[in-house]
Amino acid sequence: MIKEVQLRINLIEEKQEGVLKWKASKQLGVDKNEITAIKILRKSIDARKRQIIFNYKIAVYINEPVPENTGYTFDYKDVSAAKEIHIIGFGPAGMYAALRCIELGYKPVVLERGKNVKDRRRDLRAINQFHDVNEDSNYCFGEGGAGTYSDGKLYTRSLKRGDVRRIFENFVFHGATEQILIDAHPHIGTNKLPKIIQNIRENILKYGGEIHFESRVTNLIIKENKLQAIHLQNGTEMSVNAVILATGHSARDIYYLLHKKNIALKAKSFAMGVRVEHPQHIIDSIQYHCKGERDELLPAAAYSLVHQVNDRGVYSFCMCPGGFIVPAATANGEVVVNGMSPSKRNNPFANSGIVVEINVEKDLPKYNHFGELKGLEYQKDLEKLAFNAGGKSQVAPAQRLTDFVEGRLSNDLNSSSYQPGLKSAPLHSLLPKLIGSKLRKGFGVFGKKMNGYYTAEANVVGVESRTSSPVNIPRNENLEHPEIEGLFPCGEGGGYAGGIVSAAMDGERCAEAAIKRCS
Ligand SMILES: Cc1cc2nc3c(=O)[nH]c(=O)nc-3n(C[C@H](O)[C@H](O)[C@H](O)COP(=O)(O)OP(=O)(O)OC[C@H]3O[C@@H](n4cnc5c(N)ncnc54)[C@H](O)[C@@H]3O)c2cc1C
Repeated sequence: MIKEVQLRINLIEEKQEGVLKWKASKQLGVDKNEITAIKILRKSIDARKRQIIFNYKIAVYINEPVPENTGYTFDYKDVSAAKEIHIIGFGPAGMYAALRCIELGYKPVVLERGKNVKDRRRDLRAINQFHDVNEDSNYCFGEGGAGTYSDGKLYTRSLKRGDVRRIFENFVFHGATEQILIDAHPHIGTNKLPKIIQNIRENILKYGGEIHFESRVTNLIIKENKLQAIHLQNGTEMSVNAVILATGHSARDIYYLLHKKNIALKAKSFAMGVRVEHPQHIIDSIQYHCKGERDELLPAAAYSLVHQVNDRGVYSFCMCPGGFIVPAATANGEVVVNGMSPSKRNNPFANSGIVVEINVEKDLPKYNHFGELKGLEYQKDLEKLAFNAGGKSQVAPAQRLTDFVEGRLSNDLNSSSYQPGLKSAPLHSLLPKLIGSKLRKGFGVFGKKMNGYYTAEANVVGVESRTSSPVNIPRNENLEHPEIEGLFPCGEGGGYAGGIVSAAMDGERCAEAAIKRCS
C-alpha cells in the first residue's frame, strides 16, 4: 500500500535522522517497521513566522517495494535520414524543440551563432577581465542560450502552457539532480548547467540531429509568403521545410531583419530598472528572523517583492541568493546587468533585479517614430546611458541604495560580486524619471515590507534592461507567423516565454506545430 502524507517539520526535528518515517508512522497509525520506504514528492520552507517549518509531501510505502524508476521515458529515434526541421538558436527553446523533433521522428538542424559551452567560457572571461564583448559569444549567446550561465532557477508561473514536470524530468534525464523534481523553488546552478547542456547536445547528435555552432543566421529567403531558405553569415544557404525561430530577446539583428523585410512585428510592454545587491547575511537575517549566520540546514534566503507606484508595478525579478551580478551585454557600447548563482548559492551576496513595468503604448511617445521597435530602441538608449555613466567599459554605474533613494552621489560603494567593477554615478538623476522615480518610491516601500532591506550596505547597479522581449513576433493558432508560411516564432525572442522552463515548453510546442505543417 502507498499513502501520501503532508508533514510539517521544525528545524530541530529536521536535524533528527529518520524523522520522516517516525512522523509518518504516527500520522498514519502504522508500525514503523511496516514502512518499507519513503519518497519525498515535494519540499518547501515556510519562514513567514519565527518558527521555521519544512513542509513535506511524501509517499509512504507500507509493506511495498519502491519501484525503481517512476519517471518519464524519452523515446528518442534515429533521425539521421528523416525529414529536416531547422531551428535557429540553441537556448532552452531551441534545445527542447530539437529534442521533441527527435522524439517525433524528425531531424533537427540547429544553427547557433555562439560557441559550445566550453569555448564560450573564454569569451565570458574576456568580458569580465578585458571588457571586450564578443557579439556572438557572451552571457546571452552561445550553447544553451541565456540560460547556461544563469541561476538555473526553474520556477515558472506558466503552468497552463505545458507539462512543467516533463521539462524537469528531461533535465534529470540529461544529468540534473532529482532534487529539482521535489523542491518548490527548484534551481540547478551555473556550475552544473554546462554539463547538462553538453549532455543534451551529445544526445541530439547521437540520434542523428545536427548542431552548427558559430553559424549566425543573417537572412530569410521568402518567396510567395513561404520561407524557402536561410542564409548564414559564412555564405551558406540552406533550403528549409520549416524554421523554428528561437533566437531569444537579445538578438536585435533578427528583429531588424524582420522589420526591414516588412514582416509583421508588434511592440510589446516589458520592464526595466536596476539590480540591487545586499550582503546575503542581511537578507538571511530578515527572512529567517535570525542574528548572524543562518542555520546550516537553511539555503541562502530569497525574496519576492512587488508594489504598485502610480498604478505601475515595481517588482523584484530574477532574485539570485548567494549569487553574482554578471555583465550581460551582447555588444560593445552597452552595459546590461543580470544575475546568476552556483548550485550551492554560497556567494556572500544576494542580488535581484528591481524593475518597473514599461507600457509601450503610453510611456514612450518620443520613440513612436521607431514603430514596432520603439521599446527596443528605448532599451538600447538606457544601456548606452549605463555604458557612458560607467566610464565606457563594462564597469557598471552604481550607487548605495540609500543614496539612490535620497538623491545624492555616493562617496564610495560597497564591495560587490560584479567582476568588471563598479563606478559611483548619480543613477537617481541619470535614469529616466519614468523608471528612476518609481524605483525610488518602490525601494522605500520594500524597506517597510522587509525591515533592514533599505540599507546603505546595499548597492544599486545599472541597468537591468533585458527582463523580457520588447518586441512580439506574431503567430497564429498553428504557432506559425500569420504572413510567412513555415516560420515558427518561438521562446523568449518571440515574446512567448519569460524564463528557462517556459522557453523549453514553448520549444516543444513549436516543434510539434512545425512537424504538423511538414507531415
Ligand atoms: C545571466 C542570466 C540569468 C538568468 N537566470 C535565469 C534563471 O535563473 N531562471 C530562468 O528561468 N531564466 C533565467 N534567465 C532567462 C533565461 O535564460 C531566458 O528566459 C531563456 O534562456 C530564454 O530561452 P530562449 O531559448 O527563448 O532564448 P535564449 O536563451 O536567449 O537563446 C537564444 C539563442 O539563439 C542564438 N541566436 C540569436 N540570434 C541568432 C542568429 N541570428 N543565428 C543563430 N543563432 C542565434 C543565441 O546565441 C542564443 O543561444 C537568465 C538570463 C540571463 C542572461
